[in-house]
Amino acid sequence: MDNVDTLDFSKLKPYQPRKFVPQAVDLTDASAVVSLYEKLLEKPITSVSQLEQFLLDRSELNAAVFQQNAILYILMTCQTLDKSRAENYKHFIETVVPAIKPLEDKLDRKFMDALRKYPLESCRYEVLTRNTRTDIELFRQENVELQKQEELLGQQYQTIIGSMTVDYQGKSRTLPEMGKFILEPDRTVRQDAWMACASRRLKDADALDDILDKMLSLRHKIAKNAGFDNYLQYKFKEYHRFDYTIEDCRRYHEAVEQVVVPALKALGETRRRLLKCDTLRPWDFDMRNPVDPQARPPLKPFETVDRLKAGCAKIFAKISPVFAEQFALMDSSGLLDLPNRKGKAPGAYQHSLAEARKPFIFANAVGKHSDVETLLHEAGHAFHAMASVDEPLFAYRHAPIEFCEVASMGTELLGSPFLSVFYQDSDLHRARAEQLEGIVYVLAWIATIDAFQHWLYENPGHSRDQRKQAWLRIHNRFDGGIFDWSGLDNEHSLFWQQQGHIYLNPLYYIEYAIAQMGALQLWVNAMRDHNAAVNAFRKGLALGGSRPLPELFQAAGLRFDFSKDTISRLIDTLLKELAKLRD
Ligand SMILES: [Zn+2]
Repeated sequence: MDNVDTLDFSKLKPYQPRKFVPQAVDLTDASAVVSLYEKLLEKPITSVSQLEQFLLDRSELNAAVFQQNAILYILMTCQTLDKSRAENYKHFIETVVPAIKPLEDKLDRKFMDALRKYPLESCRYEVLTRNTRTDIELFRQENVELQKQEELLGQQYQTIIGSMTVDYQGKSRTLPEMGKFILEPDRTVRQDAWMACASRRLKDADALDDILDKMLSLRHKIAKNAGFDNYLQYKFKEYHRFDYTIEDCRRYHEAVEQVVVPALKALGETRRRLLKCDTLRPWDFDMRNPVDPQARPPLKPFETVDRLKAGCAKIFAKISPVFAEQFALMDSSGLLDLPNRKGKAPGAYQHSLAEARKPFIFANAVGKHSDVETLLHEAGHAFHAMASVDEPLFAYRHAPIEFCEVASMGTELLGSPFLSVFYQDSDLHRARAEQLEGIVYVLAWIATIDAFQHWLYENPGHSRDQRKQAWLRIHNRFDGGIFDWSGLDNEHSLFWQQQGHIYLNPLYYIEYAIAQMGALQLWVNAMRDHNAAVNAFRKGLALGGSRPLPELFQAAGLRFDFSKDTISRLIDTLLKELAKLRD
């Protein structure tokens, strides 16, 4: 595989010619960006049409700056060995981003002031107005500095996690690299590899606890500054969670306990039997990369990235000809960087090039089944971005995460019947069964992480020991007791430290459960009537973020609902399908 990326963003054209942002401006220069914001702030608004023009100018400016940020991020992650790319990105994050935060607040206020004098059509601007009102309500200049400190602590967490290596089988290896040994059919290999990683993590446990303590205290201060009792309440507003409450999340936790945990227990018991062991140990199952209980070698869907693309192109064609066309266009425009190569950052993502209104997909494909799932997932995000390409308002060209993940998880599920382009019968059943089983585990894991985060922020000033006890209580509540942690007390009580969201994206996780409920409904709809389900899905995607969550779901033929009844119904269908695949 080649060792250089061939990205050339200089040829990227804006979706429509710039009218407000000058052609030649350097958007990595904070003072240039600031003066554009100031120009927009000074522009008078004395009529409805000027107010509408203000929104369009702001959209153009936001999209251009957002795209600059995206390009720097993409370039850095595509080649981390090139230090100048990391410096360029860091420079942007440290100069441009904090400089525009207070100016965004001023623009918000200018918009709301003008809106009082020149009312706009209320339905069209309902979402924008409620988001803006909340942002103004929450903005505190003194929090900008605290948020920057929080960001720096996040970088420290990433540095510590990223530099963890273990010596294993005579070689120094990163923890992601060790993942493949934890998939080994040979149980002693799995155990050794798991223990090596866990011991390495424990060496930095105190440092990671330190970072979290500092983060928690900063976050509590941020919430207090903005007039809230705790960060949980603050963050709900900051994430614009208008359509569900803290109580709804608690009800989700209860529903998982009642409906998902019993399913999890049964799946765990089947696994234990197939693996022929007395108890399941933590190295016997990793939810993201499950070891095959029948000790078969890992699935091998493709040899080359070209074959991966060709296979997924066929799957998209079966889902919808529109998706197939869009995927082909991304490929021919150089918007897919899929192969793993030296120097590339780990993981996968879809990023929008907001001014060109084009999506970009980054991955690290090596030939595993999860590479196929990842491409289906990220392509779902890309189809979502392309569906609202004609929307003039930047803020409406992306949906809330709760619905974005319906697009991606939904595409994974819509694609699953067509995985036959990669597999023969028995492998096909195995791949699909793994996917469905994985969903059961994930729903329980989401409840675990969400409930733990609620606890963290509702108990400010707690001690490390109290935190460990809380984690153990919560983890035991949702894991169905399927794992035997005996002799691993430290490993167990600090297991949460590897969940990066707790550090980097506080309280962000419940979104995946809400979206999974949408994706499963889409999957059920498609089993009944594929074309009708996909057509509705595409209608929902086309709305971007222009409507509240329940309406986005509704347009896609889905209910915005993560209550016990819905979970129970969907889990039932899932378990029936799973049983068929395992017959
Ligand atoms: Zn996603």
